[in-house]
Order: sequence, then structure tokens, then C-alpha cells
Amino acid sequence: MLIRSIRARLTLWYTLLLTLTFLLLGGTGYGLLGYTLSRDTDRALKGVARVLAEKAGGMGAPFLPSEVDDIFRRFFGFSPLDRYFERLGPLGRTSPGERSAGSTKIPLSPQARENAAKGIPTFETVEGLEKYPVRVLTWPVKNAGRVVNLIQVGMSQESLYMAQRRFLLVMAAVFPIGLLLAGGGGWLLARRALRPVDQMVETTRRISVEHLAGRLETTGANDELDRLAQTLNKMLERLDGAFNEMRQFSADASHELQTPLTILKGEIEVALRTPRPPEEYQRILESALEEINRISRLVEGLLLLARADAGVLRMDSRRVDLEQLLEEVYKQSRILAEARRVRLRIASVQPLTVQGDPELLRRLLLNLVDNGMKYTPSGGEVTLSLKSDGTRASLRIADTGIGLSPEEQEQIFKRFYRAAAAHSGGEGGAGLGLCIAKSIAEAHGGKIEVESTPGRGSTFTVRLPLLA
Ligand code: ADP
Repeated sequence: MLIRSIRARLTLWYTLLLTLTFLLLGGTGYGLLGYTLSRDTDRALKGVARVLAEKAGGMGAPFLPSEVDDIFRRFFGFSPLDRYFERLGPLGRTSPGERSAGSTKIPLSPQARENAAKGIPTFETVEGLEKYPVRVLTWPVKNAGRVVNLIQVGMSQESLYMAQRRFLLVMAAVFPIGLLLAGGGGWLLARRALRPVDQMVETTRRISVEHLAGRLETTGANDELDRLAQTLNKMLERLDGAFNEMRQFSADASHELQTPLTILKGEIEVALRTPRPPEEYQRILESALEEINRISRLVEGLLLLARADAGVLRMDSRRVDLEQLLEEVYKQSRILAEARRVRLRIASVQPLTVQGDPELLRRLLLNLVDNGMKYTPSGGEVTLSLKSDGTRASLRIADTGIGLSPEEQEQIFKRFYRAAAAHSGGEGGAGLGLCIAKSIAEAHGGKIEVESTPGRGSTFTVRLPLLA
């Protein structure tokens, strides 16, 4: 049977353990009680036998039942006539009149007789004399080293049996009540302890993708459940952030796509309104192509980011000579630098090789060099350098441009983020360049860092693990 409620399971286990404890304690108590009472009986019997033996002295000195009564009374404090006493000759023959009145004859077992002959006392439990078994001690009385008499004293084990029965009765009464109380208490305790879980379930049920702002209540007790609630809340916060980012991303992406599409649409509509000379169509088509290129770059960038996010970025894995790559990027960007009147130069290089995709790495470097030139006013400088810092190649692209504030430095690697100066300058793209560069660096096991001072320039450093 599968019990689905933790509360029921806890209570069941609790009750089961308690039952076992009860049984163990009860069993031990019962055993100990029997053992202690038997030991006391044996001790008392021994005491009586010893005194009687002293009194008897020898065979010829009979003693009266009144004396036996007296001794019994001293030891046990009860009427002795219903107890057992017998004095026998050394061979087990009864001396007349030396048996407690009204009692049955105590049997003498061969074992006891044999022991007595050797002078050893024997304890036995005899059944069938009365309702309860009788504990019998056969005690040899010696005179001058010779066994002259056997004294048999016995005592009914009724009181022992009664005590054990009473114990069992008490246990039988207490056990179910205790179990009931403990089980009920356990159930209540478990319910109380697990109440926050029910509340958590209730709250979590209300939290959905549309409504991720809800949080679980914490008690501040910092117990296991409170920590669980805190952990779930942190997870919800992360999910909330991730969903917000996704929403923002979709909104930004649509917006970025919409702008060139609107321009494209407008241009084509205007062109179709009246017939125009071929040169004009040529110009309009060129402008349309420019917008289409912009859209296609954007879509391609988004696709690359989506693949990198999903961990399925298609990547070559080849040896890439970074020195050569840097030279190529330099050559490719020189014309643009001249057009922008920015000085582009390579400061220092080292021959270094990494494992990776040359096209993606080229794109990473072009993005950074392009940014350097974009955000550096004419007359400024963009410097490229490559060196090793032990296990990693360190590629630096430093410019003397507008720079970034510390707050901006924290944001620039986010999707579609563009600093205020970039917006006002009218230059620049959609704000995906650095994000793509970061994804490419990370896909190669590397990273990008930025250092910048507003108004003085920025330095972007790409660190990639070197090929051993
Ligand atoms: P964009 O397409 O706008 O250049 P990027 O992701 O490449 O997008 O850069 C994000 C923002 O970071 C830019 O809009 C700009 O504000 C800032 N930025 C990037 N590179 C530089 C740089 N070298 N100097 C100053 N600001 C920079």
C-alpha cells in the first residue's frame, strides 16, 4: 500500500517505533520481574533451610511444627501451614510428624537425593502439587562431615505468577492508551510541522509564467522549511528575471527589425507612386539592399546568439594562428579607419595559437575593432596587441574614444544595450555586437573584459586558452 501523505507516513513510523520500544521495554521488565522474584524466593528458602538445619542439629533432635511456623513467620511473614516443610532421613525417609500440617508430601527427585548425598543443596520447581508450581529446596544437614538429615522447604510461586500477571495486565492497559496518545500527538505534531508545506503548495499553484512576481512566505525561523521557501524564492527571482529578459529581448528584436522594414516599405511605396528614371530606381534599390543587409545581419546575429544560448553553436575546431588573424583584421579595417580618420595600428604581437573557429574569432575581433573606431572621434587612435599571459592569449583592442562609465561597463554585454552617447551619435548598430563577441569568446573557453574611463577611451581584452 502506498501512503502518499508524509504526515500519515511519519505517524505510522512513529507509532511503529513506539510499539517496538514498548514491546522491548515490556519484555525486559517482565523478564527482570520474574528473575528478581525467583531470586528472592530462592534466597528466602535458603535462609529458612539454614535456620532449620541449625535447629535440627542432628537426627535425634526433632522439632515441632510450631518452631517451623515461627521461623517461616520470621522470614516470610505469612502463615506457614500452607507452605512446605519436610525433614527426611539421609536416605529420604520421612521422620514422622515433621512435615507441615495439611500439606502434600514433597517429592524427592533422584537428582536432589544424589546432590544431597554429596552435601550439595538443590533448587527445583515442582509442578502438580497445587495450582501453581512450587519452588523446593533440598538442603543436606551435616553432622561431623556426614549427612544426617535432608531438609526440604518449598514455597508456592503463586505470588510470582500473580505479580507477573498484574504486570502484563498493567502493560495491556497502558500500551494501547500510550500508543493512542503518542500516535495522536505524532499526527498533530506532523500536521503542525508540515503546515508551511501546504501553504507553499497553495502559493506555488498560484504562481504562473504570467504571474511570476508571487513569493512564498518565509517565517524567519531559518529551519529546513524556511530555507526551502527561501531557495524557491531565489529560484523564482531568477526565473522572473530570465522571463523579463526574454520578454525584453523579443520586444527589442521586433523593434530593431521593424525599423529597417518600415524604411524599406516606405522607399518601395514612394518608388511605385510615379514612374521614375532608371538612375532613380537604381538608387532606391541600392538603399533597399542596404536595409535588407541590415535586417539580414540582425537576424544572423540573433540566430548566432540563440544557438550559443542553446549550446548548439556550429563551430569549427582548428588551430588558429592569432598573429595572422590579427593582421587580417587590421588590413580589413584599415580602409574604414581611414574613412573615419582614426589611426589604426598594431602595437605588439607574439606568435600564439589557439583551438577554435577562425571565422567566429575574426567576427569577434572585427566587432571590437569596429566599435573602437565607431566610438572614437576623428584624430583618435585604436591600438591592437597580442601577447601571452601564461596559459592564455590576451588580445587587446584599446581606443582613445568616448569611454564608458562604470555603470555602462556593467551593461554593455547585454543584448540590445546601447549607451546614451551611442544613441545620440547616430552611429552603431543594434547593440548586439558585444553580446555576440562575448558568446564567441565563451564558446572558445575564454572571456572578454573591459576597462574604460569616460572621455579617455576604452580597452577591451579577450582572453583565450592557448593551445598546449
Ligand atoms: P552597437 O551595435 O551599438 O555598437 P555593441 O554591442 O557593439 O552594440 O555595443 C554596445 C554598446 O557599448 C554600444 O552601443 C556603445 O554604447 C558601447 N560601446 C561598445 N564599444 C565601445 C567603445 N569602444 N567605446 C565606447 N563605448 C563602446
